[in-house]
Amino acid sequence: MQPDLQAMLADLRALAETESPSTDMAAVNRVMDLVESWALDLGATTHALPGGTRQFSFGVDPDAPAGERPVLILTHADTVWPHGTLAEMPLRVEGDRLYGPGTYDMKAGIVGAFHALRALKSQGPWPRGGVQVLLTPDEEIGSHSSRGQIEAAARKARAVLVVEPPVADTHALKVGRKGVGDFRLAFHGVASHAGNKPEEGASAITEAARAVLAVQALARPEAGTTVSVGLIRGGSATNVVPAECVLEVDVRVSTLAEGERVDAAIRALTPSDPRVRLEVTGGLNRPPFERSSQTEQLFAQAQAIARELGFEIGGEVVGGGSDGNFTAPLTPTLDGLGAPGDGAHAAHEHVRLDRWPDHVRLLTRLLQEV
Ligand SMILES: [Zn+2]
Repeated sequence: MQPDLQAMLADLRALAETESPSTDMAAVNRVMDLVESWALDLGATTHALPGGTRQFSFGVDPDAPAGERPVLILTHADTVWPHGTLAEMPLRVEGDRLYGPGTYDMKAGIVGAFHALRALKSQGPWPRGGVQVLLTPDEEIGSHSSRGQIEAAARKARAVLVVEPPVADTHALKVGRKGVGDFRLAFHGVASHAGNKPEEGASAITEAARAVLAVQALARPEAGTTVSVGLIRGGSATNVVPAECVLEVDVRVSTLAEGERVDAAIRALTPSDPRVRLEVTGGLNRPPFERSSQTEQLFAQAQAIARELGFEIGGEVVGGGSDGNFTAPLTPTLDGLGAPGDGAHAAHEHVRLDRWPDHVRLLTRLLQEV
């Protein structure tokens, strides 16, 4: 069965016109309700899990032996875009592209997954082991409420397919992702009059400035480790020795060992002025999705299917994280099976309508054959 692009577009419009910033659970729920209605149409068993994640099961036997386990599809209903973005960036089709907030990341991925499920359903019984879909509410803000459920579902699955978008431009699948860390360094010094009694003060800004250079020096680009102090906030007035300064740091690593090295080094930082206290919070939020032989196997299968369908597909390791980072250490995981396009989290976010149906056919076949 060929994917019906017009029907896919109509479904994508319905999802994308329902704005769903991660911070507004009621809005995210509206998207989830719509997706749940599609799942129910296909005969799914649905569950609302604590924290807001929805679970849709298609022909899944919860007590199945290892060889009969379901394939797990990971989706998220939230976007990075605040309410009101649609007024400034309305959905619009230009040539082969549909522009709009949340389309590429990842509402088109959700739509594609459900059209793949529809195609499977039209062909007969669900594939061996069935298919389970998790729709989570908080991927864009670290998946704090859904991580445990994602990991639990992955442990019971025989493979995980993540419908995050493929790589922009090349439309390649994602066979590895860096681990992502967020560290917050709060320096607590001693305030004093900058003119009358500077010696009684202990500057949090001075200590933070030293730390900026020390933290940046932890980067090892040749090992795939990047570090960026992205935010600095401190002081109260020019005539006050600053008592407070906060740094926020983004860390990306290709291996867990590198993550542990950077984590340990940040926690070992000590202010040179003993009156300044340093408080470190945060850490490695998503472990690296390391390129593995299991993922390579899944990727080789996808590549062969794409060839049969008449197109070539690559596989790349990327810097951004996804919920696939949580599942890759547990279960063979392939990512980037959503809709091709470009501009995630950017004003030119769009889906490539000319290429989208091919990727849905690929996902359909993978669900049958994995
Ligand atoms: Zn996403």
